[in-house]
Amino acid sequence: MKIKEILEKKEITFSCEMFPPKPGADLQKFEETIRAIAELGPDFISVTYGAGGSTSKRTLEIATEIQNVYGVPALAHLTCVASSREEIASSLRRMKENGIENILALRGDIPQGMDFPLSQHYRYACELIEDIRSQGDFCIGAACYPEGHVECEHKSEDIGYLSHKVKCGCDFITTQMFFDNNVLYNFLYRIMRQDIRVPVVAGVMPVTNSRQIRRSCELSGTTLPPRFRAIADKFSDHPAAMKQAGIAYATEQIIDLISNGVTHIHLYTMNKPDIAAQIMDNLSAIIR
Ligand code: FAD
Repeated sequence: MKIKEILEKKEITFSCEMFPPKPGADLQKFEETIRAIAELGPDFISVTYGAGGSTSKRTLEIATEIQNVYGVPALAHLTCVASSREEIASSLRRMKENGIENILALRGDIPQGMDFPLSQHYRYACELIEDIRSQGDFCIGAACYPEGHVECEHKSEDIGYLSHKVKCGCDFITTQMFFDNNVLYNFLYRIMRQDIRVPVVAGVMPVTNSRQIRRSCELSGTTLPPRFRAIADKFSDHPAAMKQAGIAYATEQIIDLISNGVTHIHLYTMNKPDIAAQIMDNLSAIIR
């Protein structure tokens, strides 16, 4: 089923994200992770794509399994930064053959030391979106950044590029993680003024490891608000307490989002179904 139809039909949606196993990972454990996430009954599950890395080929395999074995719609991420147009065309053919209807079209981070852009290769996600649109009946999502993309100096320029990306054929957009809902509300106001009308899926990251999150916030330009920093400082050396606090923080964030009309919630589950399950349990009367 196409995700745009799910987003249109259901008032509140909840989806999860997972990433393919790293080389050498316990594959049986990974299979249990897929099953446990699917059994939570999400509206769809997205599967990340390692930009040119060794896990990228597994994205399609896992997305296909999610649909065929568990009957849950899958969203296959696809990055283009390190791919030629022919490689992307061949990936799209394989997706079609496997019944994948939903693609999150991304540029991907520029690999260190790479000559970017390679001639005849992709430069921005909007070019990938145009190619996907012309090569099949896919539902296409794209990434957006409530605090602006880290490479873009001005937020308003970034929103201008987002508007162009949407016009190239995007059906919905999913946000980068954010920890202050006001940042998202401000972003929603700004994109409305740019007449960006596609559904926005809000990406919520339940934080269970404070050191890891500080690092990824630094890289992605995501702000950690003082309220969250106090929690991370207090519990950084107590994993069980940090996990509990991270789940409570994400739960509160989602309740506030839904109360304010942001009803499509994407949980950055990070292959931890127990955390998603606890959040779902906390929201059992709200999300169903
Ligand atoms: P783009 O939309 O192309 O934007 C990249 C930069 O170029 C921005 O600074 C933008 O302002 C600028 N720009 C865009 N269009 C134009 C234009 N027409 N002219 C001039 N400048 C322009 N990475 C992975 O490797 N694998 C994943 O699975 C993955 N999943 C993600 C899921 C989500 C929801 C999000 C938010 C990010 C994800 N990423 C993933 C990270 C993403 O690949 C990086 O953030 C990457 O740096 C930008 O990708 P993009 O598709 O947003 O690029």
